[in-house]
Amino acid sequence: MTGTAGSQLATAVGAGPTQADWAAAEALVRALPPTGRVLLICHVNPDGDALGSMLGFGLGLRQLGVRHLQATFPGPPEVPEPFRGMPGLDLLVPASAADPDPDLVICFDAASESRLGELVGRLSSARAALVLDHHASNTGFGTVNLVDPAAAATSVVADELLARLGVPLDRAIAECLYVALTTDTGSFRFEATTPAVHQLAARLLATGISPGDISRRVFDTRPFGAVRLFGEVLGRARLEPAEADGRGLVWTFATLDDLARHDQRPYVLEALIDSVRCTAEADVSCVLKQTTPGEWAVSMRSKGAVDVSRVAVALGGGGHRFAAGFTGRGTVEQVVEAIRGQLDAALIRPGG
Ligand code: 5GP
Ligand code: MN
Repeated sequence: MTGTAGSQLATAVGAGPTQADWAAAEALVRALPPTGRVLLICHVNPDGDALGSMLGFGLGLRQLGVRHLQATFPGPPEVPEPFRGMPGLDLLVPASAADPDPDLVICFDAASESRLGELVGRLSSARAALVLDHHASNTGFGTVNLVDPAAAATSVVADELLARLGVPLDRAIAECLYVALTTDTGSFRFEATTPAVHQLAARLLATGISPGDISRRVFDTRPFGAVRLFGEVLGRARLEPAEADGRGLVWTFATLDDLARHDQRPYVLEALIDSVRCTAEADVSCVLKQTTPGEWAVSMRSKGAVDVSRVAVALGGGGHRFAAGFTGRGTVEQVVEAIRGQLDAALIRPGG
């Protein structure tokens, strides 16, 4: 979204939702007639925050008496294994079965319309679109936008709106929001882990959910084939200490053939960057995950010397200073060379 209206929205979004935004969002939900149809959507390849905030909010709407309720995401209707124990999965329908013209569409954790794939048309076919997100780059593509760049996760925004709607947290809602919160804060390790994050976590835990069970399911369980696959892919990692003006780059890649040989689904590769980014000798870490021949989903992480969102944006993607990504095209070497070419310009310099 560009143009005057878009940039005004983007400015408003930068400061977080105003009281008027919260009131408008609340009014959209409260104005639903008893027969009102609501469609919940989130970004492609949904992660814990996308699914958790969407399903948690959906369970809250159900408590409010919303009966015609669907949740969906673009692409194959496959929920990644780590999320298959989540409450609220019964709300999910394949994108192809989603209501074509709902009364209200609510969009979770998507920074832009491009992350909505074949569902993007629902934003205009619905009578109103409510956007809940926490990406600073959010373009404000809803009728009402609740975008808080200071929020650690979209679930923080979802929790606030549920509270304003008078929905009490039950165990099921809390489990969804907890999955979302722990996913996006790296289990409370990342910079966005504020006192407010721990206060929300405390309220969620007070409902009686089991953080040990949830973390084991979501983060610490993978098939043995994935363990072997990680061994192979980590074994071919390269360290280039001179890159990024001596701050260092470490990278590796995983092909579709790697997945096939170990009989693994693509989602298992999401955790790979966490093993690579441990490398002490590199500020920037990077994993190339082949999606089709000649195309790679690239994940980048920084320890702070390089703003990887600048690298990603220069190469057609987006993200944050410490975590960003883009779609790379060509051979592994061509994609890595494109990254190397952006590192110096993305160095964080005092005052710059
Ligand atoms: P991840 O590496 O975990 O997939 O993504 C890290 C961050 O980069 C996330 O905040 C995500 O929104 C962003 N990101 C990852 N891939 C892309 C992409 O292809 N395009 C855009 N715009 N952002 C991406
Ligand atoms: Mn998120």
